[in-house]
Amino acid sequence: MNSTKKISLRKKINATKRRFREAKMIARGLKSKNHPILVHLVPIRRCNLSCTYCNEFDDFSKPVPKEELLQRIDLLSDLGAENIHISGGEPLLHPDAEELIEYISSKGILSGLLTNGYLLTIERIKKLNKAGLSYLQISVDNVLPNDVSKKSLKVLDQKLQWLAEHAEFDVSINSVLGTEVSGEDAILVSERVAQLGLKSTVGIIHDSSGHVKPFDEKQRSIYAQLRTMAEKSFLNVAYYQQFQENLIQGQPNQWHCGAGTRYLYVCEDGLVHYCSQQRGYPAIPLQEYTKRHMELEYSKAKPCAPFCTISCVHRVAMIDHLREKPMEALQRFFPPKPGMDERSGMPVPVRFLTWLFLPGNQTSSGKRILRRAAEKLFGVQQHN
Ligand code: SF4
Ligand code: SF4
Repeated sequence: MNSTKKISLRKKINATKRRFREAKMIARGLKSKNHPILVHLVPIRRCNLSCTYCNEFDDFSKPVPKEELLQRIDLLSDLGAENIHISGGEPLLHPDAEELIEYISSKGILSGLLTNGYLLTIERIKKLNKAGLSYLQISVDNVLPNDVSKKSLKVLDQKLQWLAEHAEFDVSINSVLGTEVSGEDAILVSERVAQLGLKSTVGIIHDSSGHVKPFDEKQRSIYAQLRTMAEKSFLNVAYYQQFQENLIQGQPNQWHCGAGTRYLYVCEDGLVHYCSQQRGYPAIPLQEYTKRHMELEYSKAKPCAPFCTISCVHRVAMIDHLREKPMEALQRFFPPKPGMDERSGMPVPVRFLTWLFLPGNQTSSGKRILRRAAEKLFGVQQHN
């Protein structure tokens, strides 16, 4: 077997393992609300770029010592974290980035890397494969570098080609829309991403004050085009339907933000915050953060929620909405197709997982046996 075929086979095997691990994550999320589904861990605040809309970087901080980060990963694992994604600043500026990923993966936790892509090389991509990285995400802001952002297709195209060729993890390229970026560029980026066979997502970026303005007609039409090109996983489709459509129209979203419980942002000083935009709350050292804190934070209403643009926290909240009000959530995420029954808009895996794990339906003995077998398979008892 030649090396291209070997890489493609490994990609398929890894993707299958990831889908299984994701199903396990959703099943656990539907069973219990007491563990974090996603954590962003900052190993370094410094960035090699300086995008004008960004308030998450500096140009001087030193990397957090590896031993401290490994300890933080242990603590997050003890809290039951399903995903730990390293972000920044630019996480690839950390000299031990690959080792951190390897350590996260060795604990059976899904690992992710949010990077601007500048420091990727073929060698580094191979190291990330070896480390067991699950997801890598790059946002590409424009075609040519400008004063707002240098995360440009022109600069990153070679890196994207290397990723398409060598990466054995999920790569998703985020095309962004917002006040400070050009929509036409976002279409060109998405077309190139599709040509390379990588996944694309659509993101809405806030300006440097953390706000997003309602889209005008032209931006809305570009947004509609981008959505047709974006990856069609059920969480993505449901997310666009539920959250982004409101934001682009300047409408608030009615949702419960689970930051502080279901999503944690652990900064370079090892403090737990709600998210990158709400640093300072609750700002408790991770080693003191307990299930009791998570219980309290889960029920707190966040005043910033209606116009929040942090898509990863929205996605996590969708699992909780599904657990708390299953039928209402499903109708909202997957509106029925015209003239068809109420489940017609739902993808098959969603129907299966909700049928199996959600309370409220009559439980036959066959279903009980299947549920027990699935619980064992997905290890869902451990967080109860
Ligand atoms: S590359 Fe990312 S972290 Fe760095 S300045 Fe731009 S948005 Fe911020
Ligand atoms: S609503 Fe958004 S901005 Fe506010 S705490 Fe939650 S994730 Fe952060």
